[in-house]
Amino acid sequence: MGANDDMASTRTVAATVLLASSLAAGADAQPPAGRQPASQAGALDALHARLDASAAALMPKIVTWRRDLHAHPELGNQETRTSAFLAAELRRMGYEVTTGVAKTGVVALLKGGKPGPVVGLRADMDGLPVTEETGLPFASTARGTYLGRDVGVMHACGHDFHMSILLGAAEVLAGLKADLAGSVKIVFQPAEEGVPGEPGGAEVMVKEGVLTNPKVDAMFGLHVGITPLEAGSITFRPKGLMAAGDTYRIVVKGRQTHGAMPWAGVDPIVVASQIVLGLQTVVSRQIDLTQAPAVVTVGTIEGGTRHNIVPDEVRMSGTIRTFDPEMRKEILARVKRTAESIAAAAGATAEVILDEGYPVTWNDPALTERMTPSLKRVAAATFNPNAQPTTTSEDFSYYGQQVPALYFFLGVAPKGADPAAWAANHSPKFSPDEAALVTGVRALASLAVDYLAGR
Ligand SMILES: [Zn+2]
Ligand SMILES: [Zn+2]
Repeated sequence: MGANDDMASTRTVAATVLLASSLAAGADAQPPAGRQPASQAGALDALHARLDASAAALMPKIVTWRRDLHAHPELGNQETRTSAFLAAELRRMGYEVTTGVAKTGVVALLKGGKPGPVVGLRADMDGLPVTEETGLPFASTARGTYLGRDVGVMHACGHDFHMSILLGAAEVLAGLKADLAGSVKIVFQPAEEGVPGEPGGAEVMVKEGVLTNPKVDAMFGLHVGITPLEAGSITFRPKGLMAAGDTYRIVVKGRQTHGAMPWAGVDPIVVASQIVLGLQTVVSRQIDLTQAPAVVTVGTIEGGTRHNIVPDEVRMSGTIRTFDPEMRKEILARVKRTAESIAAAAGATAEVILDEGYPVTWNDPALTERMTPSLKRVAAATFNPNAQPTTTSEDFSYYGQQVPALYFFLGVAPKGADPAAWAANHSPKFSPDEAALVTGVRALASLAVDYLAGR
C-alpha cells in the first residue's frame, strides 16, 4: 500500500507525540496498519476516534447549513450569498480565507501544528436552472435568469450537500489542527455546471492559482448520487472515473450543382454520409477498447434545400466520450483525420472544429490505492473501489490534470428505496438522504488526516 516512504522519518517524531494524545484519549490499541509503526497506527486510530466524534457532534449544525444552502441556491458565477455564507463560517473556524477567486470562489487555509504537505478538499457551489418539485419544507423558491429566460433555481445536483459536507469537514479538521502535520486547503468552487458563454469553475480556479501558494500535493472531492446507491455508500475507481465530454463540428464543403447532373459539382451529402460511416471505425477499428470504453456519436447532420439541388455544404456535429487522456487525444486526432481525408478523396473539404469539454476525471492510481483504506473505514453501506466509470463529466478533472487527485461518489438514496424509481441528479425531484452527510464529512476529513499522517 502507498505509505509515503520519503516522509516516514519525519513522521516518527509526530507519531510519538500523537501516541501520547491517543493514550490520553483512551483509544483502543490496534495492531499496526500496513507498513506503519505500531505507535503511528495507534496515534492515527486516536485521531480517527476524535474525527468521528466531532463529525457526529456537528451533524445538527451541518443539517442546518445544508437546508439553508438548499433553500437559497444560486446559478453559476452568481453564488454571492453562498460565498459570503461559506467565508463567514470558515473565518469563525479560524481559517485564512480568500474570497473572489474565479468570481465567487472561496479558498481557505488551515495550517496544522507541524510542517508537512498540503491537502486540498473541493466542493462546488452552483445550483441549476431547475424548478424544484421535492415538496420539502426547505425547498427552493428561488428564481434566476438563464439564457435570457426567467427560471426556477434548485440545488438539483446536490452541490448543497457538497458544501455542507466540506464545511463540516473543515470544522472537524480545525478541531484537530494541533495534531495535523501539514496544511488543509478548502476550495469552494463556483460554476461547475458551466455557464453558457462565460468562463468559470475549476478551470478558472486553477488559472488563478488555487493549487499554488502553498502548492497543493493532493486534491480530493466527492459527488453525491449519480447512481442510485444507498445513503452512505462510497464508490470510485482508479484511472478514469468520469468521461471527458468533447463536442466536434464538421463543415463539409462541396460544389453546388443540379441534382440531375451531379458530375458537374461535388456532392457534400454523399461525402458527409461517408464521413458518418468512417467515424464509426474510429472506435470500432482503430482504438484499443480493452483499455477503456469510448463513444463517437454523430448527433446532427444538416444540408440541402430542395430535392433536385446538390448543395454547397453540409454541417454535422457530435459528441466524443472518453475515459483515458491519451485515448482522448488519439480519438480527437483520428476524427479530424478521418473527416478531412474522406472529403479530400472526393474533391471536397471538411473543416473539423473541436470544442474541448471537461477532461477525464482521472483518479491517480497510486493515490487511489493509498487512500482506499481511508474511504473503506468510513463507508456506511456499499463500498466499491472498482466501480464502473460513468459517461457524465465533471470539472474536478481540471485539478486532476495538475496534481494527483481522487474523486468518489457518495450514495444518497434512502435505505430500502426502489432504485428504478430513484429521481437522479438534475431531476426536479432529486432529494438526497441527509443520513449520508456524516459519511461525507468523515470521508473528506479522513482523507485529509490520513494523507497528512503519511498513511
Ligand atoms: Zn450536475
Ligand atoms: Zn454536480
